[in-house]
Amino acid sequence: MSLVVVGSVAFDSVKTPFGEVDEVLGGSATYFSTAASYFTDVSLVAVVGTDFPDKHLTFLKSRKIDIEGIEKSEGKTFRWKGEYGFELNEARTLDTQLNVFQSFRPKLPESYKDKKVVFLANIDPDLQRDVLSQVNEPALVACDTMNFWIEGKKESLLKTLKLVDILLINDGEARELSGEPNLVKAAHIIHDMGPRTLIIKRGEYGALMFQDNRIFSAPAFPLEAVYDPTGAGDCFAGGFMGYLSSTMNFEEAGIRKAIIFGSVMASFNVEAFSLDKIKSLDYKEIENRFQDFRRLTHFEDLT
Ligand code: AMP
Repeated sequence: MSLVVVGSVAFDSVKTPFGEVDEVLGGSATYFSTAASYFTDVSLVAVVGTDFPDKHLTFLKSRKIDIEGIEKSEGKTFRWKGEYGFELNEARTLDTQLNVFQSFRPKLPESYKDKKVVFLANIDPDLQRDVLSQVNEPALVACDTMNFWIEGKKESLLKTLKLVDILLINDGEARELSGEPNLVKAAHIIHDMGPRTLIIKRGEYGALMFQDNRIFSAPAFPLEAVYDPTGAGDCFAGGFMGYLSSTMNFEEAGIRKAIIFGSVMASFNVEAFSLDKIKSLDYKEIENRFQDFRRLTHFEDLT
């Protein structure tokens, strides 16, 4: 199967205690598509400026990502600047420049309109709905967002949330969106906003899934080398949605397995800056880390 994603394609400038990069390839849709491309065909919707180099488009194509839906517009590409402290769990945004995204009116290529799985990556909720409205009969719609939109466009975000099956956000965003510090209570409030399934990403503490009255908890993989968490959430979503799109099994067991594939892709991503680690993985490495996760969490056979 295949999926369609809308989100940012960006230049990121990032500082962590372990290094610093300036204007490297980033963006929610870029990380998402790259991670998902190991599992399924991906069709990407975004806009870039005339300053966006062809080498980045060539890279996306090399991952077999369909980029017909990337528009090149007069102006500058989206830019994001952030930094992390030693705990590496949450980015501090220093600057966001929407640039060409400000006037972007997505027009989906015909070949995108019959996709069954849709991911609305972190971007203006107006754009998320604009893209969703052009997909004919999606079987699964998931979305991500961040404090920038929760604070700046809450009404529009609430309209988007009414239309989605799964929301993936981090713990800080769940608290902010719901106005509730306790995550279990926050999950109930967010369910009432629309999404039947809520996945809360908690950085190095893993992820929690809330569906109906069930909760599933997955750890993050304990890594010795963590350099840059930028894009970890998007890679989680990419592994998660990519796997679901490959199986089209949206039952709870399938979703649990997808969460582990999401955790696998996020764990690779944080091992290097930008997309340096996830741009060229071997599927065997993904499978091996999936098995490592199994060993990490299983205890039934121990005496
Ligand atoms: P993550 O670390 O997975 O939450 O996402 C990091 C990515 O999100 C970076 O590559 C940024 O370019 C992108 N990003 C940051 N702020 C925004 C925003 N307001 N809208 C869309 N994308 C953003």
